[in-house]
This record gives sequence, structure tokens and C-alpha cells, in this order.
Amino acid sequence: FGDIQNAENVFKSIQKKDIVTYGTMMKGYVENEMSEKALDLFEQIELNLNSFAYTTVFKVCAELANDRAMKIGKVLLDRIPQKFRHDNIVLNSAMHMLMKFGDIESAENVFQSIKKKDTSTFGALMNGYNMNGLSRKCFKILEEMIKENIFPDEIIWNIVIGACSKIRLLRRSQYIINKIPFEIQSKKQIKNSLIHMWGKCASIEKAQNVFESIVDRDTITYTAMINAFGLHGMGSEAIQLYRKMPNNLHDEISHICVLNACSHSGLLQEAWSIFNDIPLKTERIYTTMIDCLSRLFLFDEAQNLINEYEKTNEPSLVMYISLLSGARNNRNRNLSEMIYNRIKFLFPNEKDHLMSGAILLSNIYSSVGQHELARTFRYNQIKELETNVKLGLTWTEEFTAHDYSHPKSSEIYSELQRFTSEAIAHGYEYDSSWVTRQLKEEETNLSVLCGHSERIAIAYNFVEEPDTKFIQVTKNLRICGDCHQMTKMITKIRQCHIIVSDANRIHHFHPNGQCSCQDHF
Ligand SMILES: [Zn+2]
Ligand SMILES: [Zn+2]
Repeated sequence: FGDIQNAENVFKSIQKKDIVTYGTMMKGYVENEMSEKALDLFEQIELNLNSFAYTTVFKVCAELANDRAMKIGKVLLDRIPQKFRHDNIVLNSAMHMLMKFGDIESAENVFQSIKKKDTSTFGALMNGYNMNGLSRKCFKILEEMIKENIFPDEIIWNIVIGACSKIRLLRRSQYIINKIPFEIQSKKQIKNSLIHMWGKCASIEKAQNVFESIVDRDTITYTAMINAFGLHGMGSEAIQLYRKMPNNLHDEISHICVLNACSHSGLLQEAWSIFNDIPLKTERIYTTMIDCLSRLFLFDEAQNLINEYEKTNEPSLVMYISLLSGARNNRNRNLSEMIYNRIKFLFPNEKDHLMSGAILLSNIYSSVGQHELARTFRYNQIKELETNVKLGLTWTEEFTAHDYSHPKSSEIYSELQRFTSEAIAHGYEYDSSWVTRQLKEEETNLSVLCGHSERIAIAYNFVEEPDTKFIQVTKNLRICGDCHQMTKMITKIRQCHIIVSDANRIHHFHPNGQCSCQDHF
């Protein structure tokens, strides 16, 4: 139990090691987060593995998911003897491993090969889909399960609720939740997940109803509700609940959630007072507070807090990234340059982050009219760093930026042009500081912005239902300022309600042209 040194000594003293001894020692390494050592040990085994050893090695490989682990895990699975090909526990852990590697096809093949599927088999597959951004497939598997008369248990429903939280679409989720039997819906763990899910699906009322129905609330119950308030820009409600929460239930996550809620609602005094009262401030707690200050353009205070943190800790990249995106929103050129150089100096190997930082900074140059500088700076930095930039992805259906793959793509694009010109007629002017990549030959700043995935998704909804009054789209990155402005105009012009859930929070765009975030995003 934690005393791995002792365990190693005992292990070494055993003369005739059998497969159980090896398995137990490997498990010991895993439990102490020493998975590489477990793999080293595995490579010394010259005995035939038993089912426990197989499961453990697959678990280790899943945990590590690096090149070495992927190679070992896949070879082991290929050579697995016939008698284990009917062992569900072994195969479930193999599926989990393959899903962790992102090898969905092989995991599905293992799933198909299992003759007597049980709930854990279905669970392993669904979990894998959730892990790989394919949550939609969980709903299909659920139907399959019910068709095959396998009764979904609490664990399966929890995974399905997890899938709904990822899809974040209200009507779809309601349809699925209605299928959960009453006795399972009344379990606390399920209710906790439901609070989280309704929050993500943009229904604060439903989240609150579930919260109210729980008698013995625990840390997760409170945190899920505080987080839901935060996502919806209801900072005061979040603070109220945080204060009502029994002291012994407060933990790091609850502190972070409430600070985030303050930050998203611009409640600075409250954030400071909560921050100062937190007894043990972790890196993440500091980062949240720094993010809050940067969003309000209080850069000196943010920098002071970073200095305070660095007195006793190593510098932390995320803190500087928060600072930099605040400076960008503020179009503060000098400060952005300073922060970017500082990041480059402190974290020379963080190529992805340096790249986004460089693009950000060159946008600031463009937005203050320094186009030549923007171009050469961007060119030089990209050459220096050479990385791929993460694509934005949005779904109602799934769209990536500049997506021409949808069967209705020509209709979607003419709709996009239509509402863009409507917006221009109402005074929309694009903001080039949100163009975060280099223009290709035939592109303009406006065409790049119009290609952002959330706009395509909104256009798709208008194509499907021209008079629609309600659109909900979700996005895996943060919505950009220009799309935010554009969406406010569309809801006003078209007199509809649009909900955009981005990586950060939920935006309710109202027909009066306002957003629930009050432009804190
Ligand atoms: Zn955008
Ligand atoms: Zn908003």
C-alpha cells in the first residue's frame, strides 16, 4: 500500500516467481503511478500470462499510451492465445487500451469478436467513443443494447449521460434521459451527472431541479451546480451557493469553479475575497485568478500574482497564456510583445503554444495597421516553429472551418453569404484581429471569418428550417469575438434565439441582439 520499495524487496526475495507474483508486482507499480516500470517488468516475464496479467498489461499500456506502450500492447493482443479470446474481462481491457490509443477500428473489431457481450463490453465501447469525440455513436450502441435485451445498468447510463454532456444538445439529451428508469434516475451519482449535463446542455432550470431533488448533497453535487451557474454567466448565484456549501465539502475544483464563475461575470471584488480566503492555493487556483484579472485587463495585478506565485514555484505556461489572450482582447501591442517574448524565453519547447502566441501577436499588429510587420513576423515565427494548428470543430452536425464536405454545402454557403450581407447592411464590420492564421491566395479576412465553423453550423440550421426560432450549436474551441458579434446581429435580424456552447461557457444570444455573457468571454 504505497510502500513500493518494500514490495520490490519482497518481490526480489522470492526465488520461484510465478505469474501471480509478477501480476501483483505490476499492479503495484500501476497503483503507484510507475507504469513504465511495470512495462519493464513485463518484458522480463518468460512465463505464460494468465488473465489477470493480460488485463494488467493492457491497463498499463492504456495508461501510458506512448509509442513503446502502443507497440507492446498491440503485439500482445495479436498473439493472445485462443482461450483468452472468450474472456470478456481481458477483451474489455484490450478495447479500453485500443480506444486510449485512438485506434477505434481495432477496438470495434474486438467488440464484434465478442460472442457473449455483457454490460461492461458495451460500456468499454461507449467509453471509448466518448474519449475519442465520437459520443454520438454511444446512442446507437445504447439502442443496440436494448434491442439485444441487455439491460443498461447505472454505469451504462452514466456513460450515456456523459455522451449527452459532450453533444450538449438540449432536445436530443431530453429524449435520451426520458428512457432512464426511475429507480436509476433517483441514484445520487446519476443525479450529479445530470446536473452537470443539463448545465452543459444550456438548461439551468433542469439542472437546478435535479439539484433541489438531492437530499444528501456532496462535493460533486455542489460543484456541478456552481459550474453550471458559471457557464451561464450567473456569477452571483454561483457565489451564493459556494458560500452555502458546507466548509468541509470545499475542494480545489469547487474553488476553481466559483472563481471561474466570478471571472465570467466580471465580479472582481468577490473573486478577490474568495481567492484570499482559500487556505491552500494550487497552480490551477492561481491560474484561474490570473485569468479573471486578464479578462478585465488588470494586467499589473495579474503580473503581480504571477510574481507572487513564482517566488516559490516554477513558472507556469498556462498563466502566461491567460495573460496573453487578455492582452490580445485589449489590443495591447507592447504588452503582448513582452508576454510573447517571456513565453519564448521560459518555455522554448512548447511549440504549439508559441505558434498560437505568434499568430495572436501578428493579428494585433494587423489590427493596429502594421500589416507589413504582421506578415514578416508571422512568416518568420512560423518558419522557426513549423507546427500544425488545431482545427476548430463545431457540431449541430459536425463542421470544421471551411468545410465543403456536407451534401448541402452549396446551400449552406449561400445562406452564409445571405446573412453576412444582411449583417453588413445593419452595420457589421469584420474585425481582422480574430483571423488566427495566414491567408491563402484567394482568401480575404472576411472570407476566413465567415468560414469559422460556428457560422457554418448556424447557416446549416437556417437551411434546414428557414423560420427557426431556436438554434443550438456547440464548439470545441472558444468562440471568437467576430463570430460573437456576428451572432448577436443575426439573432436580432432574424428574431431568433441562438445558443452557442464553446470550450469555455454557454452563450445565450437573445432576439434583442444581446448575449447572456455580456461580452465577458
Ligand atoms: Zn469566429
Ligand atoms: Zn456571449
